[in-house]
Amino acid sequence: MFGVVVLPMRFFLGLRIMEDVRKLPEQLRCFDLAKAQCTCCSLGHTDGKTSLPCDRRLLLKSIRRWFSEPESPDDALARFEKLLRQGFRQEVLQCVGYGYASLGYAVYMACSGSVPILVLQLRSLRADASPEAVDQAAWFLRVLVNWAQVPLGSLFGVWMNQALCSVGVKIPLRRSLVVALLSTVTLLASAAPVALQQILLRTEPSSYLPVAYFVAWLTVTTTLFHCTGCRVERPQPHTCDVGHAGVGNAVDSDTFSI
Ligand SMILES: [Zn+2]
Ligand SMILES: [Zn+2]
Repeated sequence: MFGVVVLPMRFFLGLRIMEDVRKLPEQLRCFDLAKAQCTCCSLGHTDGKTSLPCDRRLLLKSIRRWFSEPESPDDALARFEKLLRQGFRQEVLQCVGYGYASLGYAVYMACSGSVPILVLQLRSLRADASPEAVDQAAWFLRVLVNWAQVPLGSLFGVWMNQALCSVGVKIPLRRSLVVALLSTVTLLASAAPVALQQILLRTEPSSYLPVAYFVAWLTVTTTLFHCTGCRVERPQPHTCDVGHAGVGNAVDSDTFSI
């Protein structure tokens, strides 16, 4: 049920988001105030009954005030655009620009999402609490692994999802086929959490095997995040000031509004 309904839905959404994210580097690199569209202007500053004030004029006025310098007051807009194309672009791209969340952000999301399930596990912890005859350290670590497998599974799932969507948008097939492919790979990858559950169930209470498996899985997951998290933007051969085809369409379709 989960595989048939939830997975394809997730990938349809994820692929759409990834497509937007892939436009971001170019949009930021070529940011041009003159090209940015404005809802008020495209509506002719009226909603049919009343007149709308112009957001663009308001914004330009503020930008001129914030970014003008006494020695060259006319360069305010150029200064603002330069700031956006350079410093701000780098910051945005480092956070979300390539569709991969940083490890810190993913841990935060995975742990937040797992809290309700962790509460449910409290009950099973009480049922297991008879560690007299058993190796205390092994018992404690196994309880810990039993808890931590939920956030770790989520973390692994987050990485899988963004990696698959990132690859998926580049596959030149019909969207439904790509979604079916990605869903199948996800079902195969769910062998990782299923294996841990089976190891927890089938090993002796004194066995450290679940702990070893957990540490290995954690290492793999954090390594995957590390590999995709520190991608540095390659220097681009073109400058947008000379103008080039193709960019305008991507930028112009996005209209801002306050
Ligand atoms: Zn306007
Ligand atoms: Zn460009």
